[in-house]
Amino acid sequence: MTVRALAAVNVAAIERNVARLRSAAPGAAVCAVVKADGYGHGALAAAIAAQAGGASWLAVATAREAAGLRAGGVGGRLLVLGALSDEELPVALAAGADVVAWRESFVERVAALGGGRVHAKLDTGMGRLGTRDPDEATRVAAAAAAASGTMLAGLMTHFATADERDDRFFDEQLARFAAWALPLRADHPRALLHAANSAATLRDAAAHFDLVRPGIAIYGMDPFGEDPAARGLEPALELRSYVAEVKPCAAGESTGYGRRFIASAPTVIATVPVGYGDGWRRGPTSAAEVLVGGRRFPLVGTVSMDNITLDLGPDGGGVEIGDDAVLIGAQGEQRILAEAIADRLGTINYEVTCALAARVPRLHHRDGAAPESR
Ligand SMILES: *Cc1c(COP(=O)(O)O)cnc(C)c1O
Repeated sequence: MTVRALAAVNVAAIERNVARLRSAAPGAAVCAVVKADGYGHGALAAAIAAQAGGASWLAVATAREAAGLRAGGVGGRLLVLGALSDEELPVALAAGADVVAWRESFVERVAALGGGRVHAKLDTGMGRLGTRDPDEATRVAAAAAAASGTMLAGLMTHFATADERDDRFFDEQLARFAAWALPLRADHPRALLHAANSAATLRDAAAHFDLVRPGIAIYGMDPFGEDPAARGLEPALELRSYVAEVKPCAAGESTGYGRRFIASAPTVIATVPVGYGDGWRRGPTSAAEVLVGGRRFPLVGTVSMDNITLDLGPDGGGVEIGDDAVLIGAQGEQRILAEAIADRLGTINYEVTCALAARVPRLHHRDGAAPESR
């Protein structure tokens, strides 16, 4: 299929990644995180695939994301991880989503709206949402258990450094959470304890508790920024385009805005119609490689809004107009990981796929076959 930019998402890979995470945390249920449009993969398709892979919970960051999943027909337990304003809380509750609380006044708001399922959050060191005071977190839990119509569904925290190897702060956070949540569970036996993101799920069984909350790993990206295959994960997303133009570039001629590439010797330039308007970041450096005909070619010149240019070398590398180009994914023996792109840009794999713009159509498939419609 020749279109200017396409994100092909293999839902079967998401299913297998969730199954892999289930086996990594055998005693825990899996809550698949599909916030930010499923890390750019399409939230609805990711949610359905995650459930098919054995996730019994889903999580999003916002009330709108929760409502969107319900509108798409997604059932099952759903948790909104983020802060909720007065306007947003009723939207989350109307979607039948669980919400996160760390102030008693928030539990009162939930009760005033007719009630809902509440997870009390202790801030053990992330320093973002949640309360740092275990006593306040305990009062929030008690309020959620007591208020009319509300139920205490969980006790939770979130790690700041689970993806940093040999980091001691992770163990401190884990100890703080266990010291608060394990005794509290005696009073609230139905509340689920949960703390682990992808990195914690893969790193330490002591962080699994009742429920793990992997996001990045369900998409087959590595939370440690390494090769996902080493942990049995399979990248689900490929970013594809094609060669729209091929032409010679004489010594002294340039390509792109600002003439940041000037050929020092005669070469051949291919134009691939993907740019920062598609979420292919211009960044501090345009350095990247793109696969054409199973070979890697360097991106040269500046990333434009709608186009990038590749240096095919003096012989043109056998590339012809219309050839498939792969920016993320595999072609022949070669593959380009989101982790490698993130490295070059000085960012993380999460941002590479989240950045893909709405302009890029998502094509969901099952190992290359058209997905069955629901
Ligand atoms: C995003 C998020 C996760 C998932 O994190 P990953 O690193 O993508 O696995 C889990 N828990 C909370 C609270 C989050 O915000």
